[in-house]
Amino acid sequence: AKAKAADIQKIVENFLISGEVETSGLNYGSGHINDTYCLYNKQPHEPNYLLQRINHHVFKDVSALTDNIYLVLNYLKKKMQLLQQSDLQVLELIPAKNKMLYHKDEDGNYWRMYVFIKDSKSFDIVETEQQAEEGGRAFGQFQALLSDMNASLLSETIVDFHNILFRLDNFNKALKENKANRAANVQEEIDFILARVTQMRRIYDMGQQGLLPKRITHNDTKFNNILFNQQDKAICVIDLDTVMPGYVAYDFGDAIRTIINTAAEDEADLSKIKLNIPLFEAYTKGYLAEAGKFLTANEVKSLLLGVFLLPYMQAVRFLTDYLEGDHYFKIAYPEHNLVRTKAQLHLLKQLEEHEAELQEIISTYSIYKLK
Ligand code: ATP
Ligand code: MG
Ligand code: MG
Repeated sequence: AKAKAADIQKIVENFLISGEVETSGLNYGSGHINDTYCLYNKQPHEPNYLLQRINHHVFKDVSALTDNIYLVLNYLKKKMQLLQQSDLQVLELIPAKNKMLYHKDEDGNYWRMYVFIKDSKSFDIVETEQQAEEGGRAFGQFQALLSDMNASLLSETIVDFHNILFRLDNFNKALKENKANRAANVQEEIDFILARVTQMRRIYDMGQQGLLPKRITHNDTKFNNILFNQQDKAICVIDLDTVMPGYVAYDFGDAIRTIINTAAEDEADLSKIKLNIPLFEAYTKGYLAEAGKFLTANEVKSLLLGVFLLPYMQAVRFLTDYLEGDHYFKIAYPEHNLVRTKAQLHLLKQLEEHEAELQEIISTYSIYKLK
């Protein structure tokens, strides 16, 4: 349930803010995980704040999650000072009066507060090549700044989040159990998935063989997790709940998954699902202008694998839920998870058909020439 203004006021009292804020209690932004409230300061020279109720059903260890965010923000701040780099801002957490960076209320809810980044906006859907390039630059710079931070300092807040072997295990189990008695209807999709297992575990295998380093990655590189200014320049990477050790290709692949798709994630009319290659190129250009500074040849090679893997992994998860009877993802109609599966697999087919062209684009903006 949404919190009331009076409740919000009580929560706010637990944080060390400057000035005095209005607590209209209006929800802010279009996040799906946390409840977000914008607090306007009545004193014009003091900042506005952003209050969030952390979703502790998704993130069970709020203390570990907060430690991750704190370590990353601190590192980013120091590194940017050192490099005298200032085109991107760093999120700033407001301490609670208990000296921690979150407050736990009587109902067991966890709250945290950030400084609200002034004059910012976020886009749910990428509209222009400039936005895409800026987005690539922002996530590229984020990874680059963190590329020499020790990844083992961070906890894995959601275990196996991008582990395809784990997702495939769940899929195979759902297939065997066939609880909803739906497997026979989706043989084509099942075959398509099973035919690609070896290719799709390549990033994982390269990691196991020591060919890819574990870096610190964002793990939720949706476009609306970047703040832009009024001139459409990227100014801040936000939503750090999932920062943890990972492979750079996962972040690249997940960003591309939505940017390159001309249709919605659950488009039922497959003919509408096409590739927007100019947006792919713009994002790649911005990304590699920053990440190119630290990526190894193998990491650059892994980027396109990530582009294939992320839609595949989504399809595996949707189809698993469909086979189990739809109890994980929210559905709007009975076949929704199957429609989502088909849409992601259709996207993957298109990506496969354009593999050479996409690889060529990555090569163009990289110092490593890929074959
Ligand atoms: P998601 O569904 O992406 O996981 P979430 O529920 O975790 O989202 P956030 O992304 O952290 O929530 O925040 C929701 C929205 O609030 C953002 O998309 C952005 O528009 C806005 N926002 C978040 N942090 C700030 C900030 N520090 N300053 C200004 N706006 C912000
Ligand atoms: Mg978000
Ligand atoms: Mg989030």
